Amino acid sequence: MHYTGRFAPSPTGPLHFGSLLAAVGSYCDARAAGGRWLLRMEDIDAPRAMPGASDQILRQLEAYGLAWDGPVLYQSTRGDEYLAALEQLQAQGDVFWCRCSRTELARLGTGVYPGTCRAFTTPRSDAAIRLRVPEGITSFKDVVFGPQEESVARQTGDFVLRRRDGLFSYQLAVVVDDAAQGVTRVVRGADLLDNTARQIVLQQRLGLASPTYLHLPLAVHADGSKLSKQTHAAPLPVPASPGLLRQALQRLGQTLLPPEEAASCADILSAGVANWDPRRVRVEARMAPGETQSS
Ligand SMILES: [Zn+2]
Repeated sequence: MHYTGRFAPSPTGPLHFGSLLAAVGSYCDARAAGGRWLLRMEDIDAPRAMPGASDQILRQLEAYGLAWDGPVLYQSTRGDEYLAALEQLQAQGDVFWCRCSRTELARLGTGVYPGTCRAFTTPRSDAAIRLRVPEGITSFKDVVFGPQEESVARQTGDFVLRRRDGLFSYQLAVVVDDAAQGVTRVVRGADLLDNTARQIVLQQRLGLASPTYLHLPLAVHADGSKLSKQTHAAPLPVPASPGLLRQALQRLGQTLLPPEEAASCADILSAGVANWDPRRVRVEARMAPGETQSS
């Protein structure tokens, strides 16, 4: 099957060094395989979106030479497709309508949905829609993290596909969009590793092929805390900093050209693609003490 990869940022703010790792990793993995690299804006959660962030992200990717194929897919335009998937699941008897409150579920203290509302298999108002998760073990082999196994029924339980306020869930949107875009390999940050089994369960219920998965180490501070918008990681500078691009590839365990041979982002990226070896990606990408992501 021809390789199709993607980068799927959420426009809750500009890209930072942590998001550059995911972008560079998925870009190099796709281009090294001669594959397509698509861009999807995960702007489904309108209340959390930051005005202007989508355009800022596009400008940042362009500045670093991360050129995507085809039009950008915006999740905010995909409501009809998500609804169609929900209707298919409803017709199969795979969903139910849940009115349990967050407080009620939190009181259980398990983090696992207990199946309280499973009998409500027809629509009712003011309710979330959950997937009836079948018993069984979901397993997959991550390219970096190796074989993974999870019982979604035991570890998460019936998960939400559409929230009570009408917002489609991340899991539903990702699964529907990966299939619609023909994605064959998902390369993304390891913070999403534990979402993968849920997505595979959903793919199976929808009769969709599962892509292969490669999770990249998260950039963490020297103390082990994650670099993120929440910890105020600096936005990637534009015009681009070739040094940051080199750092990203280095963090991913890749072989670098000597500095004097790779002055521009284009040079660094094309060398990154030519030398890309996913076996060299390490499970952790810890920043050295005192090192900043904005050098
Ligand atoms: Zn419920």
